[in-house]
Amino acid sequence: MLTDYRVRQREYLLEISRALTAQLNLDELLQMVLESATKILAGQAGLIALRKPDGGFDIRASYGLSQAMVPYFDILLTDVPDAVDLQRFHIPNLADKLGRLATELGLHLKQVVALPMSIKEKLIGVLYVFRAYGTRFTVNDRQILASFADQAAIAVHNAQLYERISQEKRRLDAILEYSADGVLILDSAHRIVVFNRTLSKLTRWPAAEALRKQHHEVIRWTHLETDVDFESAVAGGWPLPSATPLYVEGDLRRLGGGIISVGITYAPLFDQEGRLVNIIADVRDVTRFREAEEVKSVFISVISHELKTPVALIKGYADTLMRRDACWDQETMRESLAVIVEEADRLNRLIDDLLDVSRLEAGALSLKMDFVALDRMVERVAERFRTQTNRHKIVVHFPPDFPIIEGDMGRLEQVLNNLISNAIKYSPEPGVLKISGRVLPREVVVTISDEGIGIPYKEQSRIFERFFRGTGERHQGTPGAGLGLYLVKAIVESHGGRVWVESQADEGSAFSFAIPRKSGDN
Ligand code: ADP
Repeated sequence: MLTDYRVRQREYLLEISRALTAQLNLDELLQMVLESATKILAGQAGLIALRKPDGGFDIRASYGLSQAMVPYFDILLTDVPDAVDLQRFHIPNLADKLGRLATELGLHLKQVVALPMSIKEKLIGVLYVFRAYGTRFTVNDRQILASFADQAAIAVHNAQLYERISQEKRRLDAILEYSADGVLILDSAHRIVVFNRTLSKLTRWPAAEALRKQHHEVIRWTHLETDVDFESAVAGGWPLPSATPLYVEGDLRRLGGGIISVGITYAPLFDQEGRLVNIIADVRDVTRFREAEEVKSVFISVISHELKTPVALIKGYADTLMRRDACWDQETMRESLAVIVEEADRLNRLIDDLLDVSRLEAGALSLKMDFVALDRMVERVAERFRTQTNRHKIVVHFPPDFPIIEGDMGRLEQVLNNLISNAIKYSPEPGVLKISGRVLPREVVVTISDEGIGIPYKEQSRIFERFFRGTGERHQGTPGAGLGLYLVKAIVESHGGRVWVESQADEGSAFSFAIPRKSGDN
């Protein structure tokens, strides 16, 4: 009998441990352990109760009992001692409780044995087996049952570890997926195994399409800022001391066209034997950074050029006038001084523009609101320009009863000045310059049109950017820092209005701005 027991016990335990390694479904495992334990002890029913975080117990598996009866067995889960030692584990009055329960439910259960399930000396559950006949459970029975209790404890432990690992993995996945940087993970053969959301947005590659492709199929540079790219750097294995990341920066080709400037930091992940397992790459959008760099260098070259020209002229004329060996007539003196004044004014305007740009960038361009008669303002400004140019005819046309609007006089005059001076500046041939006003239900529109060099279509979207100056020979010699239209746009928009251009190269341009009408004004 004993040997038979032993053989069967070994068989059961073997089967359970196989199941333990093969699957991780805790409930099925507990069920299997319980069934084997009950059978081998020649019991009729059994229970496994697991400890809850609050210290109480929950029945997690039952055998030989109908589902409806299981909750009644809760009374057997009270007064469970904390001891995990097989000899000392004893639930007081367990047999009595079972006796009462059996009578109440009309069950033929007479004997009960309960053994502790423990992990690292801590009680995590209890395994119960019930018998319908009177034979008491022996020490030997308890020992057999103990090995099943151990198996059940291992199953619970594994499940807990598994749950913790999968939770950790889910957390990591979420961090990677929602990271503000693009994240790319490669296996040792440089195949893509992780491609997060941000990276999809940056590169326009759907993750599903990028996964399992080779790194070089997805990360395709059109221009490199750094000396090396990833493929050449790692051609002979990871080339750097293990902890040193590799940085590559440049313009990436997006799927479906277009480029994006990114900086990629590649870091290797080695296993304990020092073999390369993964390469983890952080992909950062450096477009704004590069733009800022570009603006800075454009700023320096434009400004130094724009400052140098008037300063050189002022100095040249002043030097000449100061020469002791020459005697200048009145006319020459006045002409030279006029140049000096004009160039000083130009410097002043440039400095004002730069101050405005910096105020604007700091969000500090404030408006002094007033009632403005744009038609009269236009007439006044036009008259001033007429005295400065005789090559161009300036025509103003505004409908009668042009409504008064609300705005900042000084700033709106600056808008007109910039647009009219541009119209003159970019009209090398004599021509007509028209300034007209229109009244729409919600806004008034002022249009300044010239017959000048016009603006090529591809530049039209960029002329309102700061420091943008038209390209080509047409601009050689025309002074400017590319700030005028940028300020025009900022001023008009801070009035709640808009500005736009219609133009054709070599035919002329028409710049319009609209300012909202006062509410309640028809
Ligand atoms: P700037 O005149 O100092 O270059 P702006 O910001 O005033 O700067 O203008 C930006 C660019 O827009 C100019 O360099 C020029 O190419 C183009 N532009 C502006 N106004 C006109 C115009 N009336 N006709 C043709 N091109 C113009």
